[in-house]
Amino acid sequence: MRLLLIEDDALIARELGLRWQARGWAVSACTRLAEADAAVQAATSEGPYALVVLDLGLPDGDGLDWLARLRQRDRLTPVLVLTARDGVSDRVLGLRSGADDYLVKPFAVEELDARVEALTRRGEARRGALLHFGRITWMGEQGQVYVGGQALELSPREFEVLGLLLQRAPHLVPKRALIDALAQRNLEVGDSAAELYVSRLRRKLAASGTVIRTMRGFGYMLNLEPEGGAASEDADD
Ligand code: CA
Repeated sequence: MRLLLIEDDALIARELGLRWQARGWAVSACTRLAEADAAVQAATSEGPYALVVLDLGLPDGDGLDWLARLRQRDRLTPVLVLTARDGVSDRVLGLRSGADDYLVKPFAVEELDARVEALTRRGEARRGALLHFGRITWMGEQGQVYVGGQALELSPREFEVLGLLLQRAPHLVPKRALIDALAQRNLEVGDSAAELYVSRLRRKLAASGTVIRTMRGFGYMLNLEPEGGAASEDADD
């Protein structure tokens, strides 16, 4: 399990790093938001972090602003905010900004561990088991996709591509991230093969109320179809 710890208090960072490493968890520790950005970018080729533990008062900015940016492209990685800001309005703001949990300093380290475990379990379930978007339900464990209750026939690669698009829908999935994620699942594909799977998926999802948009040179995004019918401008690759 890989954790990202963003904390500029050297004592806390050291204690947590040692404690978690002793449990067999890999910890990437950052003291600044810029470093955290780099760590998240680098993580895409090794798979996402199981959890982010985020301090709010950091030397180069506010952790909540960073969290809001993260949530633009990643809704799934659980984030636990660890902060001295203990007002109710602070907690509410933290949770509204996309945090999954909030723990106020000073804290009992056993409680933090328990929360980390609960969040990573939930994160795995969120990632692995069930994704919904519009009328689409994607069931990771069963390898099934349903559109409005009707099973959809997909090849394994199409299934994985759809899962990746659903994880980030309605946001962009860079083409590179798609290819890397498939490679991680031992489904090696090249650039043009990725385009082929997307275009097949697009056909199969024609009646689903969703559309896969191609952002030329960037990647793909799964969106809800606008009211009144299919978007035609990007129906083809
Ligand atoms: Ca701090």
